[in-house]
Amino acid sequence: MSFTADRLLLFGATGDLAQRMLLPSLCALHADKLVAEDLRIVGTARQPLDDASFRNFAREALEKFMPADRRGGMATFLNRLSYQPLDANDMAGYEALAQKVGTPGHGLAIFLSTAPSLFEPTIAGLTAGGLAGENVRIGLEKPLGTCLESSREINDAVARAFPEDRTFRIDHYLGKETVQNLLALRFANILFEPLWNAAHIDHVQITVAETVGLEGRVSFYDGAGALRDMVQNHMLQLLALVAMEPPANYDATAIRDEKVKVLRALRLVAPDETVTGQYRAGAIGGQPVPGYDEELGQDSDTETFVAIKAHLDNWRWKGVPFYLRTGKRLPERKTEIVVQFRHVPHSIFAGKGALTVPNRLVIGIQPEENITLSLMAKVPGLDREGIRLREVPLDIAMADAFAGPNKRIAYERLLLDLIEGDQTLFVRRDEVEAQWDWIDAIRASWTSHGVRPKTYTAGSWGPSSAIALTERDGVHWHE
Ligand code: NAP
Repeated sequence: MSFTADRLLLFGATGDLAQRMLLPSLCALHADKLVAEDLRIVGTARQPLDDASFRNFAREALEKFMPADRRGGMATFLNRLSYQPLDANDMAGYEALAQKVGTPGHGLAIFLSTAPSLFEPTIAGLTAGGLAGENVRIGLEKPLGTCLESSREINDAVARAFPEDRTFRIDHYLGKETVQNLLALRFANILFEPLWNAAHIDHVQITVAETVGLEGRVSFYDGAGALRDMVQNHMLQLLALVAMEPPANYDATAIRDEKVKVLRALRLVAPDETVTGQYRAGAIGGQPVPGYDEELGQDSDTETFVAIKAHLDNWRWKGVPFYLRTGKRLPERKTEIVVQFRHVPHSIFAGKGALTVPNRLVIGIQPEENITLSLMAKVPGLDREGIRLREVPLDIAMADAFAGPNKRIAYERLLLDLIEGDQTLFVRRDEVEAQWDWIDAIRASWTSHGVRPKTYTAGSWGPSSAIALTERDGVHWHE
């Protein structure tokens, strides 16, 4: 059902995500007049706050996490906020919550920024409290389960109250500008599509590298590991966007239909096509950092690094490896996609002593958003000693190309889409389940082969076997 919500109910309103991302995003949308005047936002969590103290809480979060030049609308934004304390497990409390939300004019958008273990009781409470009708849609934060089975349980519980067209599963990478730009690059230009296949692409690399260690996420992370925390969601979504067929339209059904076909074409990974690692003490940016087991305070077999050589069993990508790697305590923070094209079929310059290097497209997602296409060019000169060619970058720094518009964080886009009801950048149930299916098979193979993470020094690019994973194919990781 199509409606723009005039009520937003935010579970986990006192949490880290709410403070750092959700409240600042909503405030920015308010300041730019992108949400309707009548939108009211109700926060809820167990903490016993009233409206005034929640507004104070929100003001402090905005002052801490929003750049000063973007806080213009803060005072009027705070007037939109109210608060109802609730333990999500306490069914008796939902009636008071419903009263606080009131009767929406058009509809209600609910955002669950809480642990997934609370999703089932929350859905039950919302249903009992009359907060799950046709004019209500729900947004869910990751992680959606820890395996296919638990993901299905969550999805089933949600589906009992919210049909798929009112369920919005967040993968915040899809809210990032460069990720959406990947679609523009591929499908708004004639240049790439004819070359975007196994005949012209040698391989693809996707890297999500973090310099941080466990931060405050100790118990969550140790139960998850890099494969489930990063590959299952963000990296497979990036892979799907790189590899999908052209959708007929830019709409939720067309795009998600194409993504899920890619996810279902992922081949089971052979045991020697994955590498796992766990960091030991080392240094990042010249500063000493402890090892994972020291940060955790105990021994653990959880992987903080994973590299995978993935394949898609379809016509377009036959024989093209997709190398994925992600890890904590790596030398730099970067998320990027590298599309490595093949050599020219015949070099007319070989007889003149010149080497050609295959073209490469690098899509930088963070920290900087930019797109670089490396091309071969002739080095200027009279060429008396032969022709010299050199790789030169064709660089599009997004920040320079589009200096005017505000740089928006992913949650601004996603919260606005949730309020307005556009599912294009949200993950459909069949996608999540195809992702888990593939991830579960990798984990099962690790268990059956007794795979334990190899150690790597914090500040390095992971265990040496991750380098061997590509080098044996004659491929270097892009660093
Ligand atoms: P958090 O800081 O631990 O916050 C959890 C929130 O849930 C708090 O507002 C907490 O408030 C509330 N809560 C806990 N138990 C509750 C209960 N029984 N009933 C009602 N409310 C309850 O977690 P977070 O970092 O904000 O993350 C929220 C969700 O987003 C998690 O699923 C997380 O995995 C996901 N996520 C977070 C990030 C991030 O950057 N933080 C990124 C991606 C995904 P009270 O204790 O006052 O109840």
